[in-house]
Amino acid sequence: MVSANFSLAQAPTTSTAGPTSGSLPSLGETSELAAAAERRIGDRIAASIYRDPDYIDDPVLADYVQGIWLPLVAAARTRGELHAELEERFAWQLFLIRDRSINAFALPGGYFGLHLGLVAAVGSPDEMAAVLGHELSHVTQRHISRMLTQQARQTPWMIAAMLLGALAAGKSGDVASAAIVGGQAVAAQNQLNFSRDMEREADRVGFGVMTDAGFESRGMTAMFEKLQQAARLNDNGSFPYLRSHPLTTERIAEAQARVQLVSAEAAKPTREKEIESGKARLLHAMMASRARILAAPGVDGLRSMVAEAQRRPVSLAHLQSPATPENVRDAGALYGGAFAAAQLRDFAVAKTLLGQLKALGTQDVPQVAGTIDLLGTEIDLLAGVVPPAASSTDISRATSRAEVLTQAQALMAANRVQAVSDRLQTWVALHPKDAMAWQLLATAYGRQNQNIRAVRADAESRAAQLDYSAALDRFKAAQGLMRSNPSGADYVEGSILDTRTRQIESLVKEQALQDKLDR
Ligand SMILES: [Zn+2]
Repeated sequence: MVSANFSLAQAPTTSTAGPTSGSLPSLGETSELAAAAERRIGDRIAASIYRDPDYIDDPVLADYVQGIWLPLVAAARTRGELHAELEERFAWQLFLIRDRSINAFALPGGYFGLHLGLVAAVGSPDEMAAVLGHELSHVTQRHISRMLTQQARQTPWMIAAMLLGALAAGKSGDVASAAIVGGQAVAAQNQLNFSRDMEREADRVGFGVMTDAGFESRGMTAMFEKLQQAARLNDNGSFPYLRSHPLTTERIAEAQARVQLVSAEAAKPTREKEIESGKARLLHAMMASRARILAAPGVDGLRSMVAEAQRRPVSLAHLQSPATPENVRDAGALYGGAFAAAQLRDFAVAKTLLGQLKALGTQDVPQVAGTIDLLGTEIDLLAGVVPPAASSTDISRATSRAEVLTQAQALMAANRVQAVSDRLQTWVALHPKDAMAWQLLATAYGRQNQNIRAVRADAESRAAQLDYSAALDRFKAAQGLMRSNPSGADYVEGSILDTRTRQIESLVKEQALQDKLDR
């Protein structure tokens, strides 16, 4: 599952090609050089994903997915699957992809992709943790490195091109793009499949990682059941994950055996545990609806989500503790309906549904309540109304990325541009790779006529997305602005600008040199 559209047939296993002399160093060992080479391939792919219109940075959904992802990475570390050197070398970064198909995949260098379709299809964070734990394990167990070693006759540049081609081909309803990337890449895709042994190892290690991270072991079998059902119903291209991860009876049996073993050991779920799991499902239902909408279901799709929310029997009301399946379904439907109505610019309906969502009693669950408040702010922003969040005097109270960025937009709507730049300056100092924050900061500076800073923030946002030549253009433009107006120049700003320009310049040179070597 390096990527999506691989055929059902399993790839030949390790016997096909040993580590021969090629342009890649031997990746069998986790040598510094090997990891660095793999990371370079990953960076090249990541740079293309950032520029792909289907790449989506939705802070609310990204925070939610990070909340599942980070505990998995931490568990892999604690279990000793992820050692310090590899953690340092690789990116461990997840990309959300605006695609309705059910897919998740690992890429070289510790990059991962997650289709919105998968977020929408799974029923709980545990099911998502099962998929992500499996993908994470492909990387910690160095399966990708081993596969790259088998590709020793291909240059790193060709491998990156091949994987990008496979990614394009894996998008739903996009069979034509497979032809665009050329026959060679398509033919080579099948050589980049994981072996059966690697899949079994990723299942085994991934299961340990997800349960150690505190997720329910049943998530794994539930996910398998979901995939099996889907496979029985159809395979019209919306389940590329199945094609790269064929469900053998053996895989299912092994998963069931593992779950039974763990459940036998674990005590009967306590009421507290049930309440926790209910809260998690409640939040998940809302995020699954959000994923459906962000995957751009079209006007009819949005309308049917609004209708679904409006059909909800109001009498059910009020959240039970622990949340019942009806509560979970209602919360998901109302969140989806409210957000969908806002996309359709039917703000009155959006507000009504949002009110019903609040009346459900979800305010008692802080994380869920926070998510609903953010939706309220988003609806106001879409409606062109200044949200109440904009009048908050204590902007530094926002802590999550989604809160900070949403509140920054609210403040922007209220013309409190200096409050935006003050808050985001602190934020980007801590999160220098947050391209969206840099973009917002650029806008806030621009509206304060701080043009040099605005151009530099724009440059930083390009650099954060690994587009070094675009970044360099802008850094140089900012230097030009500073030279043309020496009286308004500030010394500190000037020296930051010079340092960053030099750093990015050397990255551009390095990349150009590496490109030559890698071809
Ligand atoms: Zn796999």
